[in-house]
Amino acid sequence: MASMRISRVISSLIFLLLTACAFTQGAELTPIPTPSPVILPQGTPVPTRAREMHPIETPDQTITPTEAAATLLCDPTAGNAIPEYIVRAELNYAKRALQVAQEITYTNVSNKPLNTLVLNVKPNAQAGIFSLQSLNFIDGQSVEYKLAGQRLEIPLPEALEPDCSLEFNLTFNLRLPPIDVGGIHAYQGYLGYSDRQTNLGQWLPVVAVKQGDIWISHDETPIGEQELLDIANWKLNFRITDAPDTLRIAAPGTVEKVSDSEWNLSLSNVRDYSLSIGENYRLLQQATTSNVSVEIYTFDDAIISSNTGSMDTAAYALNTAVKSLSLYESLYGAYPLQRLVMVQGDFPDGMEFSGIVFVGGEYFRGLSGVESYLTLISVHEIAHQWWYSQVGNDQAIHPWLDEALATYSEFVFIEKFYPTLTDWWWDFRVNRLLPQGFVDSTVYEFTTRRAYINAIYLRGVLMLHDLRKDLGDDVFFGWLNRYAATGTGQVMSPDGFWSLLTPEQLERTLATRERYLKQPQIITLATPVCLEATCTP
Ligand SMILES: [Zn+2]
Repeated sequence: MASMRISRVISSLIFLLLTACAFTQGAELTPIPTPSPVILPQGTPVPTRAREMHPIETPDQTITPTEAAATLLCDPTAGNAIPEYIVRAELNYAKRALQVAQEITYTNVSNKPLNTLVLNVKPNAQAGIFSLQSLNFIDGQSVEYKLAGQRLEIPLPEALEPDCSLEFNLTFNLRLPPIDVGGIHAYQGYLGYSDRQTNLGQWLPVVAVKQGDIWISHDETPIGEQELLDIANWKLNFRITDAPDTLRIAAPGTVEKVSDSEWNLSLSNVRDYSLSIGENYRLLQQATTSNVSVEIYTFDDAIISSNTGSMDTAAYALNTAVKSLSLYESLYGAYPLQRLVMVQGDFPDGMEFSGIVFVGGEYFRGLSGVESYLTLISVHEIAHQWWYSQVGNDQAIHPWLDEALATYSEFVFIEKFYPTLTDWWWDFRVNRLLPQGFVDSTVYEFTTRRAYINAIYLRGVLMLHDLRKDLGDDVFFGWLNRYAATGTGQVMSPDGFWSLLTPEQLERTLATRERYLKQPQIITLATPVCLEATCTP
C-alpha cells in the first residue's frame, strides 16, 4: 500500500467512536483444512477472463474462533499499518501438493472508504495449480468474490473506513507444476519442482497495490515479471509430510525448526515470502563485515572438475555474493535483513525474492573464471535486494527501474573488484548483442525475451552509464543512494526517480534521456515518492 500511504486527516475521536468496522472481530489462525476438504460449489477456479460472481458457502471446517480479538477495529495510529499474512501450510512432498490456510489482515491506510478489496493470486496465472477452497471474513461471514486469472476481487459488504482493519481467511490447495525444462514456462521454475528441488516463489495471494481508484493486477506474460508488490509482514507455520529425510529448507528471515517436519518462519517488511526445499542441499555460509549471514544452498553438481582438480563453484558464488553485498551496502545503503539466502535453481537464469535469490544451476556447472554468468547473475540477483525488494516498482509497466539498476550493479561490481574486466563486461553483456529499443517500455511490448532484455536491461545500462557521465560519479551514486533511501518500503515511479535530481542536473541529462526514452520529458514530483494521485499520470 505504499502508493496509498499518504498523509491522511486523522479522524476525530468522536468519528472513530461512531465508526464501526464489522470485519475485525478477531479470531486465531484458521486451522489447516482436513485432508479431504469439502469441495465447494464454485468448482476449481481455473484462469478465465470471464468474471462471474461466485457466492461461497461457509464450510464447517474452516472457522473456529477461539481467542478474543487482538486487533483494534479502527485505530487512528494505524497509519503505517501494512498487510499481515499468517499462513499454515502443509506440503505433501511426494505429491508436490500443498494445503494452505492464510489469514490476511488489511488496514485501509488511504483517506477514502474502500468498497472492494483485490488480491493478486500469482499461482492462478497458470491453469491447474491453484484451487480455492474457502474464503471467509474472520467472523464467519461468507465472502463473495470474482476470480479471474490472478485477480481475486472481493466486494465488501460494507465500506472499510480509513484506519479500519479487515481480517479474512482463505484456504486453498496448490498442485505444483514440474519445472517446464526447455518450455515457455521454464523461467517460472521458481514455482515448481524438479526431482530434487521444490520451489515456492510468490506462491501466496497478496493484497494488490491501489493506485488512485484502481487496484493493480497485471496480466501474466512469459516475458519479464508483472508484479507490483507492497511490503507486508509474514508468519508461517510450514509442515512437510511424505518426504525423504534428506530434505533441507532454504528460507529467508527467522527459521525455527519445530521438529523434523515442521518449521516456523517469519519475515517483516518485505514484498514476498518465498522459499525452496531441496534433497541433500549443501549449505555454505559466510558473514559480511556488516554481519549479514550469506548462505548458499547447492547440489553436489555445483562441484565441478577443472584442470587443477575439483572446484566448488558454490564457494566461489558465496564469496562473490559477500563481496557484492558489501559493495552495494556501501553505495546504496544497508541491507535490512540479517540473512541472505542463495539457492542453486533447477530452472534457467536467476530470480529475485525478498531475502532469497535463485541462480540457475547451469551457471554453476559452467563456471570458467570470473568472466562467467555465475559471477554476473549472482551479483545481479543480489542487487535486486535493493532494486525490487527494498525499493519497489511496477515490474510490468516500468521494468527498467529495477532491471537496469540491477544490471548496472553488475558493472559496478566488475569495476570495483576486477577493473581489468570492464571492457569484457561491456562486450560480453551488452555490445555484442547490439541492443535496441526504448528503455521505458513495458513488458507487454515485446514478443521475445531477447528483445525485452536488450531494451530494458542492456539499453538501460547504456543509459545509466551515460547519465553517470552527464552527472559525474559523486552526483550519480549520490542519486542512487537517495533513490534507495527514499524508495525503501515504497513503490517508486520513474518520475519519482528523476525527481531526485535538481532542475540543473535534470537539464544535464536531457540529451541522454532523449536518446533512450520514449518519453524523455518527466513530471517533477514535489515529493518523489509515488503517491496515490501521481503514480499513474
Ligand atoms: Zn533482474
